[in-house]
Amino acid sequence: MKKFNIAAIDIGGTFTKMAILTNDGTFLENKKIKTPHLLPPEKMIKNIAGRIKELGKGLSFNTCIIGIPGLINSKEGKVIKASNLKGWENIELKTILQKETKAQIIIENDANLIALGEMGFGAAKNFKNFILLAIGTGLGGGIILDGKLYRGVSGYAGEFGHFNIKRNGFKCSCGKYGCLETYVSSIGVNNLYNKYSKKFSSFKVAKNEKGNINPADLFNAYKKGNTLAIKIFNEMGRTLGSFISGIANSLDVETFVLTGGVSNSYEAFINPLLNEVKKRTFPEISQNLSILKGTLGDKAALLGGLLLLKQQ
Ligand SMILES: [Zn+2]
Repeated sequence: MKKFNIAAIDIGGTFTKMAILTNDGTFLENKKIKTPHLLPPEKMIKNIAGRIKELGKGLSFNTCIIGIPGLINSKEGKVIKASNLKGWENIELKTILQKETKAQIIIENDANLIALGEMGFGAAKNFKNFILLAIGTGLGGGIILDGKLYRGVSGYAGEFGHFNIKRNGFKCSCGKYGCLETYVSSIGVNNLYNKYSKKFSSFKVAKNEKGNINPADLFNAYKKGNTLAIKIFNEMGRTLGSFISGIANSLDVETFVLTGGVSNSYEAFINPLLNEVKKRTFPEISQNLSILKGTLGDKAALLGGLLLLKQQ
């Protein structure tokens, strides 16, 4: 196999990961930065392009693959909407990035890239039919059927974060109410915290400068037996479990792979999740169903770009 380098970027709601890697999956350089939220979209893209060029100094690359948490028109290289990135609507990402890097640009939904990465190199290596759930700032999804990424008719399949869980639930960044990610994500952790913290006032967890709870802090509180933290993770796990059973009953896939920052607190919500899955899934389906934790962490979406390139 002829060796070449690619640049990979994964823009998240909180962090942006970037790397220069070879086409066999060896990382030559990689870096994680805070997503420069305060910059308007075009300036943010230019800023990130500058950083990837800096990272790739002395290393040649002529392809740059970029993952975005939102609705992507990958053919046109456009971001239609990324509700957890401020102002990202109808952004000509490919055009701007191409101008800045002079490389071939491929854009894709971040959870789709993570699904491909986990299939090629991680937890889903032995699976051809699975659902990837990326639980971070929001909740993204990727669908792999018969070993291939399922994009749907319009190219937007897998937006599980906006699956309605409660008709009159929390308000979502998409403008609707009761979406899955308003319960299962960093946003969800905060919504549940705000809902229950008055009742359990003696178990409060410190908020950051933005007035938000960090799921990692809540997980630490959980480990110390904090009643409020236990309640929040319990509700999150049960909500996700009931969602998973619905999808399992509908699609009869082999496994669900959970990744993303919030999945680091896996042990805090996995038991209520599994109980719910067991209770609600047809036994004929659940006997062949597993729930796994992703193994690639921050590198998943970056590696997923390599598989995407092969499939093109
Ligand atoms: Zn929504």
